[in-house]
Amino acid sequence: MSANVWFDDWGSTVGRAFHIATVRGVAVRLHPTLLLVIPWVLWHWGGRSVDPLRGALFGVFVLVAVFVSVVGHELAHALVAHRFGLAVRDVTLLPIGGLTRIEQGPLPPRREAIIALAGPALNLLVATALVPIVSGMLVLRDATSLPALAQLVSETSVASLLALTMVSNVLLAVFNLIPAFPMDGGRVLRAWLSTVSERSRATRISVTAGYVVSLGALGLGVWLRDPTLPIAGLFLATAAFLEQRTLELERAMQRLPVGQFAVWDGGGVDPEEPLAHALRGGPRDLAVVRDGIVVGMLWREIVLRHANIAHLLRAADVMDRAFAAVSPQTSVYEAHRRMLASGHPAVPVVDPGNRYRGIFTSDRLTHVYRYVQSPRRTTARWILLARALGLLGR
Ligand SMILES: [Zn+2]
Repeated sequence: MSANVWFDDWGSTVGRAFHIATVRGVAVRLHPTLLLVIPWVLWHWGGRSVDPLRGALFGVFVLVAVFVSVVGHELAHALVAHRFGLAVRDVTLLPIGGLTRIEQGPLPPRREAIIALAGPALNLLVATALVPIVSGMLVLRDATSLPALAQLVSETSVASLLALTMVSNVLLAVFNLIPAFPMDGGRVLRAWLSTVSERSRATRISVTAGYVVSLGALGLGVWLRDPTLPIAGLFLATAAFLEQRTLELERAMQRLPVGQFAVWDGGGVDPEEPLAHALRGGPRDLAVVRDGIVVGMLWREIVLRHANIAHLLRAADVMDRAFAAVSPQTSVYEAHRRMLASGHPAVPVVDPGNRYRGIFTSDRLTHVYRYVQSPRRTTARWILLARALGLLGR
């Protein structure tokens, strides 16, 4: 499972988690509630085995195999999102599955679908790789039927561990492909629907499907007298609700003009200024401005690359002349979309004729998102929304 949520949205829900690894800059964390699963695993596998110690040890191996599969699933989402230029905050393992926190952005539907499909695709890949091994073991036993597989899964051997890993990867893929939020299938459904209809309508349909599935899990839990299903249902409903809220935020972002959030950084740097001047006050993205007109952009990474010869170069020598700019009336949403498309973390805000008005950076973007969604700032949020709707003066 994965929920691609706004930064900080789950901050309070997820709480503290142990950092266990970092894969290509993505932090993998373990939520403390996961430790509650361990006694259950020991009891479950130890109790059903002739040799309780062996059974318990086997249970721990199964737990590790399942969670490695979940981490693989989440990292597949994270790394593909990263390739598309989205910031990935971390992957957290919860008893109910994994949670990848990816910066939400106005992604084209195709890319959103690719990110969503990456997780289940990885599980199917793992399962497919295990098929020849597991079927080889079944052939050796002279039993290649489904009951024989069930028999194999119930043992405590290496063969059974591999078979269980295969089965759990198939289940992970199938479960996540259910076309309802917050499952990956819900994202694929939304992406597909938004190519034939409005994105907000597409989201509503996927979210409603999520509520139906969570109600189904609740009903099934009562019927089967299984307490884990209603808990899972509650989690699904919460995640579907958050997605709905994300959509509302997205719409607010579409109404907020970027001009209101741009920073006036002293009017940028002059093209004739030494590059060393651009490093004063810490390296950052800067607009290169001559007579009030933006003529180029100095990207932080470029400045850093030339840091040791910065006294020999002028800003004009390394500036990007093919930059994209936005007008003050452009929405924050659209500005973010242009930033993602250009691959640069900032965009200059200009009046007609390229007259410099300020710079809008990803830091400012995070600030706007936090400002709008922070529950403690309800008043500030209403003021922003009122401004966006044109009810208040600037
Ligand atoms: Zn997923």
